[in-house]
Amino acid sequence: MTLPSTYTDRNCSLARALEIVGERWTLLIVRDAFFGVRRFGDFATQLGLPRAVLTNRLKLLVREGVLARDDNGAGTVEYRLTDKGVELWPIVRALMAWGDAFYSPGGMKRTLRHDLDGGLLDSEARCQECGSVVPVEDTRIEPGPGFEPVNADSDAVSAMLNRPRRLLQPLVPARASHADESK
Ligand SMILES: [Zn+2]
Repeated sequence: MTLPSTYTDRNCSLARALEIVGERWTLLIVRDAFFGVRRFGDFATQLGLPRAVLTNRLKLLVREGVLARDDNGAGTVEYRLTDKGVELWPIVRALMAWGDAFYSPGGMKRTLRHDLDGGLLDSEARCQECGSVVPVEDTRIEPGPGFEPVNADSDAVSAMLNRPRRLLQPLVPARASHADESK
């Protein structure tokens, strides 16, 4: 017997939302998009999932307007979070914090800071330094005490992900000519 593809609870928006982001891998793809991953091959490398599954998940996210698919010509396709997709950040952040609290004995895997002043963000994304609630694009992510570097030497994207960086900044290593990629 195959599982039904939709939930039957029509009066719960959580059920509806999970139809979009509740499949295996999907939130991890969204997380990597926040970290700046833009390309199919880089998602595949980071997540180590079958390419057919990645294709399937990306299609769903594009169809639902969570990701936009930009074809920059010359075979360069990038996926980036739309405004609707960016609104998933509090969920991703909260689940990371929950995972840190209960499944990371070494402490936080990644630390979130206000990029302007380096202040740590609390669970509401409020900067402990200046007191403002920090938007996603001004959030800096960096390895925390529980972080274990992976693939650090094996590819450029992994190396960049292991260093402090601002969220949503495209993570596109210079491995081809991207002279016209201003955006
Ligand atoms: Zn601040």
